[in-house]
Amino acid sequence: MKQSSLVAAAVLLSHSSRSAAFSPPSAFLHSLRTASKSLHEHPVAASNGIQHEPSLNPLLSQIKPSKTVEIFSLVKQMEADGQTVTSLCVGEPDFKPPLSVLQAASDAMMAGQTTYTAVTGTVELRRGIADDLKRRKGTEYNPLTEIVVGNGAKQCVYQGLLAACGSGDEVIIPAPYWPSYPEMALLVGATPVILETAVQDGYLINPTSLDECLATHPKAKVLMLCNPSNPTGGVHSTQLLQQIAKVLEKYPNVIVIADEIYERLVYTQDDNGSATVTSFASLPNMFQRTITINGFSKSHAMTGFRLGYLAAPSKYAKAASVLQGQITSCASSVSQAAGVAALQVEEEWFDNNVEVMKQKRNYVLGELSKMKNVSVTVPPNGAFYVLPDVSSYYDGDDTQLCLDLLKEKKLALVPGSSFGAAGTVRISYATSMEELEVAMRKLGEFLDGLL
Ligand code: PMP
Repeated sequence: MKQSSLVAAAVLLSHSSRSAAFSPPSAFLHSLRTASKSLHEHPVAASNGIQHEPSLNPLLSQIKPSKTVEIFSLVKQMEADGQTVTSLCVGEPDFKPPLSVLQAASDAMMAGQTTYTAVTGTVELRRGIADDLKRRKGTEYNPLTEIVVGNGAKQCVYQGLLAACGSGDEVIIPAPYWPSYPEMALLVGATPVILETAVQDGYLINPTSLDECLATHPKAKVLMLCNPSNPTGGVHSTQLLQQIAKVLEKYPNVIVIADEIYERLVYTQDDNGSATVTSFASLPNMFQRTITINGFSKSHAMTGFRLGYLAAPSKYAKAASVLQGQITSCASSVSQAAGVAALQVEEEWFDNNVEVMKQKRNYVLGELSKMKNVSVTVPPNGAFYVLPDVSSYYDGDDTQLCLDLLKEKKLALVPGSSFGAAGTVRISYATSMEELEVAMRKLGEFLDGLL
């Protein structure tokens, strides 16, 4: 009976979809409702007559929900109740995408660029990405075989991991880490191995510790390298990256997933006066073993466009495109057209954002330095996060601290323990100066009240 209702719905749908302007006919909706209702009314019965609840994928029992999302949901709930909350918990820029990007998206829609594109992205966008990487990063990728555009960098990280490793493999994740890395490693069936970094090292990878870790983990297949880092804002210098590359030469089975999504937001300058991050793939002998991740969310404030990419030797790019072909087909055609325009934005626009972000960073660091028992040992040099140590409070229970801070002062920060950095809190300073001033006052008052 259920089956026949579904079949009836499908038949109606297939007839209706032949007409030019499609809207589901009411008969179809009715059949679908009947089918869905009957499916819910009859749980699966085993042959012995005992009824079983369908179970979820056992993999889910290992996956933690994101604390950022949890805090964010609480904030939304409080706002819905009419409360005003100061939120420094989301990781997205507060500036708007360039006008030319919005115009390109609108033009693309009106010109009918509303259909699927090639799985790996439009040739125009891939060419633009390859040119951009060559010009700014010195890496040369074949746009047709070595670049895969996806629905955000997040999807590209996942596909990169899925392409490179699986059951029985280990993924080395330096802590503090972006919380999705360990969960994604578990999702692909691999085992995350946390490599601790030291606050005195600015939370950057220590080459000796990396060597020791790889020597004791022969199953390691991937090293996650987030540079600049979310959540610490740490930037690995060229020299440090070279030392990491040297260590990796001893371990030919290990590849690097270099997540460089924040590479446009760096506050130190090189000899030419520009703020740049060295791309790991540009180091000698590292191209063949690096999957580079980048995108448009942080650099161009295009988080909602869901546009990112993976650049890698064809073996990995091909694997990622096969996976993407079965999972999401392609990134939005409209977002891709916007991406082409984004790659033509003048450098001045980025320089201006960096300048504004740097002022906010300096302000937050200055205010934190005035707070008792709060320390930022090494100032962050990139991205838009600070991870101050607040372990003197709440006996180091950062989650309770954040929950009480939210309840009492209506200030939302994310507990550092969700990034593998217990006793810290993550502050995202990508918000207006006015909001930052309110936030710093609230945090100072809250901590003073605990003394
Ligand atoms: N990598 C890191 C380190 C991030 O912080 C984020 C976003 N928070 C992403 C990847 C994903 O970015 P996107 O919006 O392009 O999916």
